[in-house]
Amino acid sequence: MSPERIASLAIVGRPNVGKSTLFNRLAGKPLAMVDDRPGVTRDRREARGRLGDLELRLVDTAGYEDKETGIEVRMRQQTEIALAEADVCLFLIDGREGVTALDQRFGELLRRASKPVILLVNKAEGKQGDEGILEAWNLGLGEPIPISAAHGEGMGDLYQAIRAALGEAGIDDGPTPDTDEEEGAPLRIAVAGRPNVGKSTLINALIGQERLITGPEAGLTRDAIAVDWLWDGQRVRLHDTAGLRKRGKVDDRLERMSAADTLRAIKFAEIVLLLVDAEHPLEKQDLTIADRVESEGRGLIVLVTKWDLVKEKQAMLAELREEFERMLPQVRGAPLIPVSALTGFGLDKIMPAVVALHKNWSVKVKTRDLNDWLAEMVARHPPPAVDGKRIRPKYMAQTKARPPTFVLMASRAGKLPDSYKRYLVNGLREAFELPGVPIRLIVKAGK
Ligand code: GDP
Ligand code: GDP
Repeated sequence: MSPERIASLAIVGRPNVGKSTLFNRLAGKPLAMVDDRPGVTRDRREARGRLGDLELRLVDTAGYEDKETGIEVRMRQQTEIALAEADVCLFLIDGREGVTALDQRFGELLRRASKPVILLVNKAEGKQGDEGILEAWNLGLGEPIPISAAHGEGMGDLYQAIRAALGEAGIDDGPTPDTDEEEGAPLRIAVAGRPNVGKSTLINALIGQERLITGPEAGLTRDAIAVDWLWDGQRVRLHDTAGLRKRGKVDDRLERMSAADTLRAIKFAEIVLLLVDAEHPLEKQDLTIADRVESEGRGLIVLVTKWDLVKEKQAMLAELREEFERMLPQVRGAPLIPVSALTGFGLDKIMPAVVALHKNWSVKVKTRDLNDWLAEMVARHPPPAVDGKRIRPKYMAQTKARPPTFVLMASRAGKLPDSYKRYLVNGLREAFELPGVPIRLIVKAGK
């Protein structure tokens, strides 16, 4: 899909779920352009926006919420607009309130609609929408996506969903990034790290190398935000924030990789390569970025750069591994690869690690295997009794991949100690071989 292609989105949902907030977040330009084309009887609000390389046209359905009309009429009107005007319908619910009767009726209308619907569970900042996400599955509109319109969380996932929906609607002519089965979908990588760790040098070395491997015409394209290449038959897209920055070198202020750049890179990537400097490894900023990669649910690979400058290589590597596991237990097992862009050392290890991690990050564990495993884990080490009563884990299912997200039904779910959740998460990581993959575990009260 060319970046110029405009995706037209309608945002629908009952009042107060956050439609306007999302509208404003996605809108890049001032809103309320009034369209008075002949034949359009009512004024329509529209705004242009942007999400990654997607150009958006937002159709505002909130404009129809005048007080004269009843709620059912408004719902129908919103849906009508979505169907007539938009390629994709974004259906919002409030993750904190869960699915209401009105959401259900909306869901029914939208299920019958002929346009792709993306179900968004809003107000989910800081995992607060977990309950709502589970309920949202029951709407029968596919995988619910947690977002926070107010805080800008989940925008990377929304981007992927829009791309997938455009593909489904036959609008997007390129492969969609989030369909696992899609062989040609580019694997999205970002490079992050403190200034001067060697991001630009590494990217150039990587791309230079790939250019040799794939030949000069093998689909290596470079535009302002991404570099595409083929690695072992796999399409790869690298978000080149460092390159962007270098291009603007005239301006000194641009020299510093801003936190916003890093965050943007993380959000639009599937796998993040975090570069740390062998001479000053694991500084606070490195850990902050790694933590952010985990909380955004991306796969993490740590590259220790400028390895040519290290004298005691073996000792240093062992120490780094240990330190890293200790400081970042939440990304236990993330690959740590020493590299030198200068000598080329270790560069050939990067892409195999990326592909392997991506595979794990996309894993779907069979419910049956999961429950066999759960029974074993509980037998080996039952959850503690709280207030004299046992907590009983009952059933487990994977509700989502990328990152793998599991739901555990348990009696008295709210009382399950964090230590027990860690026991389960670490167990999942080991049993299903998910080193370095952020794992989400949601515990829910259930019979
Ligand atoms: P609309 O009626 O669907 O257009 O909803 P609004 O966008 O006006 O939002 C309704 C209320 O929810 C407002 O008070 C917003 O500040 C709040 N809100 C919107 N998005 C979020 C969010 O992501 N998190 C939280 N906590 N509140 C939100
Ligand atoms: P960025 O700010 O993260 O993009 O870092 P640069 O790629 O501009 O590199 C910063 C400095 O580190 C430059 O002077 C590079 O020449 C140097 N550098 C980068 N990679 C290596 C390496 O593998 N070995 C050595 N010795 N120096 C490197």
